[in-house]
Amino acid sequence: TPSLPQPDAPRIMVVANQKGGVGKTTTAVNIAAGLAQGGLRVLLIDVDPQGNASTALNVPHDEGTVGTYEVLVDQLPLIDAVARCPEVPGLWVLPATIDLAGAEIGLVAAVSRETRLRSALDAFFDDYYVDYVLIDCPPSLGLLTLNALVAAHEILIPIQCEYYALEGVTQLLRTIDLVKGRLNDGLMLSTVILTMFDGRTKLASQVADEVRRHFARETLETVIPRSVRVAEAPSFGQTVLTYQYASVGAQAYVKAAGEIAERGVTPTI
Ligand code: ADP
Ligand code: MG
Repeated sequence: TPSLPQPDAPRIMVVANQKGGVGKTTTAVNIAAGLAQGGLRVLLIDVDPQGNASTALNVPHDEGTVGTYEVLVDQLPLIDAVARCPEVPGLWVLPATIDLAGAEIGLVAAVSRETRLRSALDAFFDDYYVDYVLIDCPPSLGLLTLNALVAAHEILIPIQCEYYALEGVTQLLRTIDLVKGRLNDGLMLSTVILTMFDGRTKLASQVADEVRRHFARETLETVIPRSVRVAEAPSFGQTVLTYQYASVGAQAYVKAAGEIAERGVTPTI
């Protein structure tokens, strides 16, 4: 039996922030691993053509490998494109290959181009169950991220504790409002996570305080510290949990995943 509480219904969370390098992928893979390690069934969907999440989770994603592109563009059933993460029991991955870079163009004239991922997940849930779906997005607000926002219930925003941290978030919030109004009424910002926190700098603490003022309910107590182990794990095809479980970075992600599971869905905006 799971050590973390199971949600009443699958929670579909999109990890988004159109700033690059803020810790989206790192957060998506390590939260996914933390939830799976808590005994929950987790599906990670890689929607970034860079395929960094697929790399970190050690699933094949060479050009031509079946993955997110085929699901979105060719409407291949999700179950036919999902791979098991060899490192983490309970974690499945829809991999992204570089082919996905062509998906924005492949979809431009397609019918229901914004709802392809949602339809794929709906069909998947007719026959299969997972507790969590985490979607890792590219650093842009194009058609791929739009598909993720339309398919999701919740948004998880990683914020790096640096200058201009909240700048990109404003644009994302506007996009969320647009999507809410037109394509996905149920979408809400549920979770903010502070990443790459360096406790030695005053700036990091100031940014963290500012984020907590803006997102008082959404921001997790747990802060992810800047840590070499977190950064180097992907080059070994590992999450930081499987790479160095005792490291501060791994323990922070375990705690953050626990917090997400324990507090459940808390509707906000
Ligand atoms: P994004 O997906 O938003 O572009 P990434 O998750 O790829 O961001 O992170 C950007 C870079 O920062 C990567 O090289 C990653 O390894 C590194 N990184 C992320 N989180 C941490 C952390 N807590 N400590 C140290 N390095 C980190
Ligand atoms: Mg990324």
